[in-house]
Formats: sequence, structure tokens, C-alpha cells
Amino acid sequence: MQRNDKKLKKIHYDHENQEYIILNKCPHCNLEIHPSPENTYLLENNSFKLCVISLTCPSCKKDYFIFNDGRNEATTNEKYLVSIPKYGFSESSLINNTSKKFQNLYTQSTNCELLGYYDLAFFGYIKSLEILLKDIAILEHPDSEDIILFCNVIACLEQFHSTNIHLFSKKLLEVLKNDYLHYQKNADYYANSELVKDCIDYFLLYSELLLKTLNLNQIKKASD
Ligand SMILES: [Zn+2]
Repeated sequence: MQRNDKKLKKIHYDHENQEYIILNKCPHCNLEIHPSPENTYLLENNSFKLCVISLTCPSCKKDYFIFNDGRNEATTNEKYLVSIPKYGFSESSLINNTSKKFQNLYTQSTNCELLGYYDLAFFGYIKSLEILLKDIAILEHPDSEDIILFCNVIACLEQFHSTNIHLFSKKLLEVLKNDYLHYQKNADYYANSELVKDCIDYFLLYSELLLKTLNLNQIKKASD
């Protein structure tokens, strides 16, 4: 499973005596970076104060903006508003290996979480994991595509991921099984979300390995 310090998160960034809340990764290339500041802007009226910082990624050299709520009463989590462009995965080889359907939902879920729409992000991650599990099952069992597409996620796990099902803790299986009414806002809610995200990270790596193996087998078959 992915180490905690590699996760996408909001971090503090000091520039000219002003503290900004930015992302620890570049929204263009997803690498963990320490960006260089290009410029800052202050937008203000009687009610609101927006602090905008333009940053450059030292790796891909692309620029981006981070908008912060500059009001004193905004908490750290409220301070971060948005990045322009929004966070994307176009340069991530792990994500590019997956289906467009997965990429779409996973990118939306990630951006929902960054915007603070935690409920939508949580359900988006669960559905993203379901798509990823089914995409992998179809790769491994192409003859059973119709069954995989129309079975529920637990049946898919039991029938087509029997070698991986040990990775699903009781807690995670519960999260995947239950409906919205089961989830109430409590400390567990966020722990559950992390469980699902860790599982997605694992299956992204698994999927990459599987594609490599399938390619090797095809090359071997062609040369036999
Ligand atoms: Zn970059």
C-alpha cells in the first residue's frame, strides 16, 4: 500500500510573509514538488479577500495558480479554494493504463475531495474502485465479460478476484457493501475513505503489472 507521505495533500507554503495553503504535488504532472513562486495577487472587496499565488513546477516547468481564502476566520482546510488548472492525471502512467471510465470518475473524485466535497468524493472513490476491479477482472477473464459487467462488486470479488480478496479487510468489505444511510459523519468516515483510496492505489499497481505480464505472454505466443 502507498506510504502516507506520498499522498496528495494540502500543505503550508510561505512566501513574502504570507502563508498559503497549496498542494504537495503538481496538478500537471502529479510529482511531489517544491514549486517556485512566480507572482502573487490580492483580490479584495468589503466581504472577501482572495490570495492568489502563481507557481511553477520545477519538474515539468508548467505554471499554475492556487487560490486561497485570505480571511482571518477561514480555517486551514477552508483556506485552500482551487487550483487552476484542476488536478489531473494526464501524465501519470499508472492512471493512463486504466479505462477512460475509471480515469474520469477518479479525477472527479480527487477534485471533489480537494474542493471539500467529502461525501461525493467518498462515493466517487468507491465507484472508481468498483470500475477498476471490474476492468481488471475482464482483462483476466475476457470470456466472462458479460457476467462481470452485470454482477455486484462483492460477487465480482468472490468470483474473479479470489487471489486478491485477502487484501480486503472486513472493514473495507463492509464499506463496499453498505448504502448511503449506513454512513454517518464520524471519525470512521474519513478512515473508510482512506481505506478505499489505499485499495485503489494497490490495484493501480496490480493493473500495471498485469498489463506487463499479458504483453509479455502475447510476445511469447507470437514468437512460439
Ligand atoms: Zn509538474
